[in-house]
Amino acid sequence: LIKFKNKNKQVINQQIASTSKNIRIVILGSGFAAIETLKKLQNQYNNNNNNNNNKFNIEIIIISKDNFFLFTPMLPEVFSGMIEPRHIVTPVRDFCKSKTKFYHGTITDIDLKNKTVTMSYSIGNYSHPLYHQEKNLSFDYLVIALGSKTNYFGNTNMEKRSFAMKTINDAFVLRNHIINILEQAVIEYENVELRKSLLTFVVVGGGFSGIETVGELNYFVKNTIKNYYKSINPNEVKVILVSAEENILTEVDEDLGIYTKNILEKKGIEFKMNRMANEANLDSIVLRNGEKIYTYTIIWTAEVTLSALIKNLDCEHDRKGMLKVKDNLELEGFSKIYGVGDCAAIIDPNSSNGKLYPPTAQNAIKQGQLVAENIIRDIENKIPKKIKYKVKGSMAKIDKRSGVAKISHFKFKGFIAWWLWRTFYLSKLPTLKKKIRVVSDWNIESLFKNDVSMIKGYVEEKSDDNTAISENNNNNNNTNRNKHHQLHNSNTTLK
Ligand SMILES: Cc1cc2nc3c(=O)[nH]c(=O)nc-3n(C[C@H](O)[C@H](O)[C@H](O)COP(=O)(O)OP(=O)(O)OC[C@H]3O[C@@H](n4cnc5c(N)ncnc54)[C@H](O)[C@@H]3O)c2cc1C
Repeated sequence: LIKFKNKNKQVINQQIASTSKNIRIVILGSGFAAIETLKKLQNQYNNNNNNNNNKFNIEIIIISKDNFFLFTPMLPEVFSGMIEPRHIVTPVRDFCKSKTKFYHGTITDIDLKNKTVTMSYSIGNYSHPLYHQEKNLSFDYLVIALGSKTNYFGNTNMEKRSFAMKTINDAFVLRNHIINILEQAVIEYENVELRKSLLTFVVVGGGFSGIETVGELNYFVKNTIKNYYKSINPNEVKVILVSAEENILTEVDEDLGIYTKNILEKKGIEFKMNRMANEANLDSIVLRNGEKIYTYTIIWTAEVTLSALIKNLDCEHDRKGMLKVKDNLELEGFSKIYGVGDCAAIIDPNSSNGKLYPPTAQNAIKQGQLVAENIIRDIENKIPKKIKYKVKGSMAKIDKRSGVAKISHFKFKGFIAWWLWRTFYLSKLPTLKKKIRVVSDWNIESLFKNDVSMIKGYVEEKSDDNTAISENNNNNNNTNRNKHHQLHNSNTTLK
């Protein structure tokens, strides 16, 4: 059934004929888990000239709000300008064999009982569409691989005033913001207080993305200043990592976390451990212990959560709202509907205390493969396989030429870990074309100065709006803040 709804609430229903021989598999998302499921299903059914002895006509549909796959491990290198943004994204259509259908739309509803999903998409100009249409699609098999989103723990000010590092747009916005801040710092050479807060950068979160982001940020800011902003002394720059936990990189290993912290401290990064970030203002961040850090750059990478769509699905969830799945990855209480990747709570059978597989790309890939295999087995009336793989290891890049890695029982640090990181992730990057482009980006970056062009369209998207500015001006009761802003507002003449 296809249901069209236009701006005037006119609804057009369309019935798609289906025969009893049709099996429709719908995959939601275009991240690691979804693409892996798609690849394995396509291999099996090979454009439907297939291995199921033509018993069924297999129809594969993939739906995502992004028409590309984003290779997140290299995202921090995009904001630092080391890699061009297009080089870490691959169009979903590049993965689709000719009979697979891809729909670029946002899933707004999943009806698990009636086996339909609702997708919304825009008509007309992308940023100012004329109207939105809705389409309902029925399915025989459903793979929910909708990932996670940044968790602000309900702190709306933090959400509004901090930068995230989750999407390709986040990387653009942050890059432009940092260049913009450096431009401002150059002009504000007389206003010591303002320049100090402009040159203070705070990253919140000590996990994978927080650590990779803080390392890249520290290198990017200092290297860019050295190359282009000669009136700024790199020692004026303060890069701070705030973590609510005692250790960093807990996903990797405690020892490697300590090593990473030492390296980053030597590079000048300040760590504030066991501290919760509590409040975000336009010009500062306040920690739960009352400490206030004046800054115009807060990057929030602390934890992930689920979208309202996933949290409100009418099925079993864990404490955080993740989809509870059985050991064959079907949702608890449902058959032929699967949950995978960051949005699913999947118990690692190798752990003694029922721990979940952590939300990593490596796990999403393995789970995507298993889901595809279990769908194929189900179609062939075979018993499904249970999840049982062991996590092989983890790696993180922590600076220009150093990293940490734990592979099986072996631990690597420094250059060798960085080299392993690069080699491994390059091998995982989809398509030869993108691999060549990323390698050439790396080589060019090591030979030439980085680029500091600021493409303004992207700045506007995340910048605080005018209401925030007037909110700031109305806040003048706070004496300390007022004093700080009087300094900021003083007029100076450029020499
Ligand atoms: C900066 C950063 C660095 C990272 N580094 C590493 C690393 O080095 N190693 C590692 O293993 N992991 C890393 N990760 C974690 C890894 O990216 C995730 O665990 C992985 O992406 C999860 O895969 P997924 O398929 O579950 O979700 P995702 O890859 O997030 O994909 C979700 C998909 O669903 C789509 N979607 C979401 N909602 C909707 C909707 N309503 N309608 C339609 N489509 C929708 C999205 O567009 C997306 O395509 C990193 C993450 C970040 C942010």
